[in-house]
Amino acid sequence: MSSQANDTPGPSADRQERGGAASLAAAPRDDREDPGLDRLAVMRHPTAAKKTQIVVVGGGAGGLELARRLGARYGRKAHDIILVDRSRTHIWKPLLHEVAAGALDANLDEVSYPSHGYRWGYRFFYGQLEAINRTARTITIAPLLDEDGSELIGRHLIRYDYLVLAIGSVSNDFGTPGVRENCILLDDQAAADRFRNRLLNHCLRVARATSIDPDADAYVRIGIVGGGATGVELAAELYNAASGLRHRGLEVFDDKRLKVVLIEAGPRILPALPDRLAAAAAAELEALGVRVLAGTRVTEVLPDAIVASDEHIPCDLMVWAAGVRGAAVLDGIGGLETSRSCQLIVRPTLQTSRDDRIFALGDCCHCLLPGSERPVPPRAQSAHQMAATVAENLRRLMQGRPLVDYVYKDHGSLVSLSRYSTVGSLMGNLVGGRMAVEGRLARFVYLSLYRMHLLAIHGWIKGTALIVIGHVNRIVRPRLKLH
Ligand SMILES: Cc1cc2nc3c(=O)[nH]c(=O)nc-3n(C[C@H](O)[C@H](O)[C@H](O)COP(=O)(O)OP(=O)(O)OC[C@H]3O[C@@H](n4cnc5c(N)ncnc54)[C@H](O)[C@@H]3O)c2cc1C
Repeated sequence: MSSQANDTPGPSADRQERGGAASLAAAPRDDREDPGLDRLAVMRHPTAAKKTQIVVVGGGAGGLELARRLGARYGRKAHDIILVDRSRTHIWKPLLHEVAAGALDANLDEVSYPSHGYRWGYRFFYGQLEAINRTARTITIAPLLDEDGSELIGRHLIRYDYLVLAIGSVSNDFGTPGVRENCILLDDQAAADRFRNRLLNHCLRVARATSIDPDADAYVRIGIVGGGATGVELAAELYNAASGLRHRGLEVFDDKRLKVVLIEAGPRILPALPDRLAAAAAAELEALGVRVLAGTRVTEVLPDAIVASDEHIPCDLMVWAAGVRGAAVLDGIGGLETSRSCQLIVRPTLQTSRDDRIFALGDCCHCLLPGSERPVPPRAQSAHQMAATVAENLRRLMQGRPLVDYVYKDHGSLVSLSRYSTVGSLMGNLVGGRMAVEGRLARFVYLSLYRMHLLAIHGWIKGTALIVIGHVNRIVRPRLKLH
């Protein structure tokens, strides 16, 4: 791409007419913008005045890959690529259940955004998106507070020429009373760490009680709501962790003291998988000791119990993994259009429906492709594919060329039952259709998903090195993270 094309972003974007977008000039202001906000607080690179500024908000499965692609493609000469995230480090979200159960030490797998940005040619800003002003083309970043609540950086603005929203999703409690107060929602690493600490503390309590009285009525009772991949994987991972505890400090802990109940409102667990595989997964979980309750709707969560179909299920720890929705901050943000579940509505080009310069990808977007009855599912593979389409469309938009439509390629779903089993179905070119897989092949493909993510965010050389290091770590590091 010529630098001339890079320097002339505006007109081509304004000319862009796909999907009948509203005029940028007519964009409503975001009411949440603080009128007293200091204009001087607009974050600019000292030499960035003439640079085309592309801002990616959210460095997750899709956003981090996109920031790397953009940084690697454009560098810092005529462009300023900025990644904003409310966390300082990235951990791939599909690993969170392993972090929660202690099977994975997130410190070994997390990626530091500032270092990654330095290597790949983008700048990282630590902060949380609060508002968008489409007329001024700025985003507002919420005040950054220290642990004690004192302000580190005040509310400030970041200018953009192009904006990509990739802030993922949050757990959907469907308005069920008591969920927010009493359940852990596996939305981020902090929640996974909180769950692990409470789990270990409770195991310690039970070990202590049974060391005093071997017949004590002491159990670690865990309720998981949602029989999708997250709930199923977490349930299996908990048994893996419990079986290892007695060799790692809790000598008196007996894994029979773990009682997990998995509750699903639908007629069976793992609705994304074929009947046979879902039944195999349910049988495997029951063999481990999990009580699988399908067709059971949770009506309330109390501090010490889940209320489901008039049954009180006593629990010491409860996890809600029953679906996702867009984050509350997206509700009406910048006058952009959102779906009922608060996701940004995008056109097939992944531009938001009302603004050609603002793209959305991954879990935070609602993408209904032509000829499809359902929106693209919120998965890591969709976020990965969308990152590639947005990178291409940003280039085309800046060059004034027609954009391409996103095509969702479903490569299937795989569910890991920890070291016990892996089941799933593979689709597409890989197997020439849809194929149910189990065992070693399924495990291999499941692990490949994370390896592909490592290659996508680190490139071939460092990505391959990290995959090798990961293998070594599996041998030399402790099997459980007990702190
Ligand atoms: C336990 C678990 C297991 C899963 N397993 C699988 C699987 O096996 N296969 C699969 O395909 N998918 C799986 N998923 C789903 C998958 O993780 C998501 O679909 C995927 O991560 C979405 O990518 P994303 O880039 O849209 O968002 P995320 O990866 O969620 O990234 C969002 C980023 O935005 C940041 N952010 C959020 N809000 C703000 C804000 N206001 N301001 C600034 N930054 C913000 C977050 O810190 C985060 O870094 C799993 C999910 C979970 C929870």
